[in-house]
Amino acid sequence: MNKKIIDHHMHTNYSPDADPKATMELYIQSAKEKGIEGVMFTDHIDFDFPSDLFDEMTDYNKYLEEIKRVSKKENFKVFMGVEIGYQPHLNQRMTDFLSSHPFDFVICSIHVGDGLDFYNGDFFKGKTQKEAYLRYYEIVLDAVKSYDDYDVFGHIDYIIRYGGYEDRSYQFNDFKDIIDQILKAIIKKGKGIEINTSGIRYGLGVLHPGIDLLKRYKELGGKIITFGSDTHKIRDYYTGFEEAKKMLIEAGFEYITVFKGRKPEFVKI
Ligand SMILES: [Zn+2]
Ligand SMILES: [Zn+2]
Repeated sequence: MNKKIIDHHMHTNYSPDADPKATMELYIQSAKEKGIEGVMFTDHIDFDFPSDLFDEMTDYNKYLEEIKRVSKKENFKVFMGVEIGYQPHLNQRMTDFLSSHPFDFVICSIHVGDGLDFYNGDFFKGKTQKEAYLRYYEIVLDAVKSYDDYDVFGHIDYIIRYGGYEDRSYQFNDFKDIIDQILKAIIKKGKGIEINTSGIRYGLGVLHPGIDLLKRYKELGGKIITFGSDTHKIRDYYTGFEEAKKMLIEAGFEYITVFKGRKPEFVKI
């Protein structure tokens, strides 16, 4: 893998759902062993989450100091990203937060729909599988139309990860119209998507997004794509990247995107 292809989705022990042992230093050591030229930490910010999981907010002034300290100590490129959870009423609060810190990269993700948690299953109660997936995409569409302060949209089809259905896969064609609208809005606003490799680890055997969505993104003129493992522990860092690269090439892409100071740079894959 090209050493410039940096993992753009990583959770350290600053994320409350990550392994307490997943320190910045250990990720850097792993990156050095793999011959990657930098790390991009994207810890969680989820304002107004339905449970108290994300109540304790990281002090990003201290976080930035920590990034500078480990970067100097390890003599390594360390970028400060963030994965921010979108909900419609948080639009202004998210923008205010992001403008107060010098982030290199912002992932916008939907972790909560209509005030309900996906992870604990609340969102799925009283909905058929198709209704739940469709409602999720409606929420994504609303987000990409009304919110602009991000660089890539996170794990765009990850709704299949939750819900406890026996068959968690979905037919792309069932949702093609709304996915088209989502992708068009993302592309028009100069934003991108990520290939999130965590689906392989969650036993789904697929990447987020799958090949059909990725091909459609290409057809519609999409260019900006980052790779992210969505790791929450050292062991999962940079996993699934060979599969992601294979899929990217299959979909007709020749470049992958890396970010610094919120600016995209294109790297040949
Ligand atoms: Zn996420
Ligand atoms: Zn994540």
